[in-house]
Amino acid sequence: MKKDVVVLNCGSSSVKFAIIDATSGEAQMTGLAESLGNQDASVTVKYKGEKQKIALSENAMHAEALEEISRIIAKTGVEPVAVGHRVVHGGEKFKQAVQIDESVEQAIQECAAMAPLHNPANLTGILTAKTAYPSLPHVAVFDTAFFQSMPQHAYLYALPRALYRDHAIRRYGFHGTSHKYILDTTASELNKSVDETTIISAHLGNGCSVTAVVKGKAVDTSLGFTPLEGLVMGTRCGDIDPSLPTVLQQKLGKNAEEINKLLNTESGLLGISELSNDCRALEEAAEQGHEGAIIALEIFCYRLAKYIGGYMVATPDLDAIVFTGGIGENSSLIREKTLGYFSHLGVKLDADKNLDKRFGAQGEITAADSPIACWVIPTNEEWVIAQQAAQFA
Ligand code: AMP
Repeated sequence: MKKDVVVLNCGSSSVKFAIIDATSGEAQMTGLAESLGNQDASVTVKYKGEKQKIALSENAMHAEALEEISRIIAKTGVEPVAVGHRVVHGGEKFKQAVQIDESVEQAIQECAAMAPLHNPANLTGILTAKTAYPSLPHVAVFDTAFFQSMPQHAYLYALPRALYRDHAIRRYGFHGTSHKYILDTTASELNKSVDETTIISAHLGNGCSVTAVVKGKAVDTSLGFTPLEGLVMGTRCGDIDPSLPTVLQQKLGKNAEEINKLLNTESGLLGISELSNDCRALEEAAEQGHEGAIIALEIFCYRLAKYIGGYMVATPDLDAIVFTGGIGENSSLIREKTLGYFSHLGVKLDADKNLDKRFGAQGEITAADSPIACWVIPTNEEWVIAQQAAQFA
């Protein structure tokens, strides 16, 4: 039976929205309200193959955007059964999706210190959407929830224990809904139950993370207390020597906030290549011999391979390594370079399959006799949110 769910992802100046049938995963409508708080605030909506852009009033914020979005949805005649909200940080409190009440709102607020750019915007979205849809269940789906199964030896940092007890400093992980989708879909592709499935899942988009999943449970992941740790990302540095921020403050005469900005927005592929944060643009430049692009892609793949290799210690009876996200789903070059680091372990890519699996194609990319299977599975975070929200309808 069809179960249409409104899926909302509220940022500080944007609202990404979709109507997803939780049963089939089909997106009836997708859209984006952007430039909220600016002169050119607008809502763009795609419905039945047609795209329409609607101007909002000058400096319109979330409330006006969500009013317009609910008007657009009402005009289609779709009757949603629930509203699913992406919430970035659920701390240690939320191990799964929950129906939102006042205590949940307060807990999301309390987690805002750990995700100051995201949780307040998520909460604003929840509060305004409740006005637009007062009679529907509103459900919070947390990016961090999937990782709450990690053991202490994976989530504790080697810092004084009191920092964990008193300040909740630990690894939380992000991109949880994407890794969950990859787990469920891999299990179904391999005809296994989820709790028998062991994978290493690489979500490679503008933000990147690798997660080790053993028998359906996340046991380690590369993003940490914040989404800065781990892999090289579009503009984020990933792992560096932890004393570097102090060294950089001294050398550059910048304050802590400025260094944090440098690590988050001026580093990664952009910082190394001195050209772009966009993998596709870098691949094109590398082909023309751009030195920065060549080394940026090499570092990206080497770091990724190191993480995948590292997670092999945690994943006995590994069923598959799976690539997803804009880069993972589309870049046969990145997959080939990364898996090249495992050729001495016998991992054998099938070049044709690797080239085929782009632009939404799903399937295995390794040869039949490869000891470890590698897959490409396009992610669908909105569907996971819709499925989890529909449980409360
Ligand atoms: P996402 O954040 O998941 O939308 O992913 C964005 C990243 O995917 C950007 O770095 C894009 O350059 C990259 N990407 C998208 N399509 C391709 C492609 N065909 N080849 C290489 N990278 C791509």
